[in-house]
Amino acid sequence: MTHLMNTYGRLPVCFDHGQGVWLWDKNGNKYLDALAGIAVNVVGHAHPRLVSAISDQASKLIHCSNYFTIDLQEKVAEKLVEHSGLQAAFFCNSGLEANECAIKIARKFGHKKNIDVPNIIVLKHAFHGRSIATLSATGNPSVREDFSPYTEGFIVIEEGDIGRVKELAEANKNIVAVMFEPIIGEGGVIPLDLNFIKEVREVCNQNDWLMICDEIQCGLGRSGRWFAHQWAEVKPDIMTLAKGLAGGVPVGAVVVSEKANILRPGNHGSTFGGNPLAMRAALETLSIIEDEKLVENAFEVGKKLKKALSKSMNGFSGVLEIRGKGLMLGIVLDRDAHDILEPGLKAGLTFSVTAGNVIRLVPPLTLTEAEADELVKRITPLVRSFLAQPKI
Ligand SMILES: *Cc1c(COP(=O)(O)O)cnc(C)c1O
Repeated sequence: MTHLMNTYGRLPVCFDHGQGVWLWDKNGNKYLDALAGIAVNVVGHAHPRLVSAISDQASKLIHCSNYFTIDLQEKVAEKLVEHSGLQAAFFCNSGLEANECAIKIARKFGHKKNIDVPNIIVLKHAFHGRSIATLSATGNPSVREDFSPYTEGFIVIEEGDIGRVKELAEANKNIVAVMFEPIIGEGGVIPLDLNFIKEVREVCNQNDWLMICDEIQCGLGRSGRWFAHQWAEVKPDIMTLAKGLAGGVPVGAVVVSEKANILRPGNHGSTFGGNPLAMRAALETLSIIEDEKLVENAFEVGKKLKKALSKSMNGFSGVLEIRGKGLMLGIVLDRDAHDILEPGLKAGLTFSVTAGNVIRLVPPLTLTEAEADELVKRITPLVRSFLAQPKI
């Protein structure tokens, strides 16, 4: 009898340790990790630099408080500002917290303009988290079900529908922001059209709205650029980060432009947010991404992996599409794919299934070409035999 709440349908494997892109379970079986703890272990498992940074910091100071100056926060913020071209950062502990903060900034931005009920435009397949406000901003019914009443102030539109954004700009003077994932993650690995992102930026400029990019899953090099919105050659006003930022140590961040840098003491805070342990891990993770050129690696290896998967699964009638960018790829099937997860483990592979029918591959950004070849070699027969079963 388990003493855990029943919040996850868990697979019957317990991992013991990892090294690079590899994981070992308690029985000594080895797995190629194409999930990376859901796009978290960006520098791979047990990276020696990250291990020694974390242990060194743990032996010095794990936590103090944001009542004091924390130099490590300054250093992490400096790197995020450098790579994004934005102005300032706030640190918290998770993705939903980062999005909560972004929503608060957008609301304050509205109130400063005398908008009493600020509205934010969000996308239908978005996932922004599981707190009451962020689930209210999330389209997926299974995330929302049973948790009403929802937070008001979110207007849902279809991905890519710039016409609707323009209509709303005319019709609704309470809008203060548009919030979206440049590459939708949980919603099924859906890269947004780059022209849509550019046009949203323009509408935001014309109407004095904030553009909020949720880069929690697609950011930090995964798409082959530091941040996925950079593919559209635009800058957001607010960007949220979490997942990979500290290589597996819980952390979240909100990075803002000058225009959105409006929170003042008392407006927001977090006890743990940006503590020395998390910041040391984040600083080392960002330095490893820089030093090992992992953004470039994600681009190169991701491009080859996508091509190799398309080639090896060419002619599989149940594979509708292979989509995504860099090392954020989705194999879209014509049926629910959850029953491929256990055979996947037996084939020595971890990955996840999202949006019901999308096999999601988000391996560590350290994945080499040889490891990508091995991934193709393992997943192709797996998908073939899964598709050979009668559809349920
Ligand atoms: C994972 C995720 C979140 C939520 O992050 P948590 O750390 O689980 O709260 C929000 N937005 C996106 C795009 C995500 O992928």
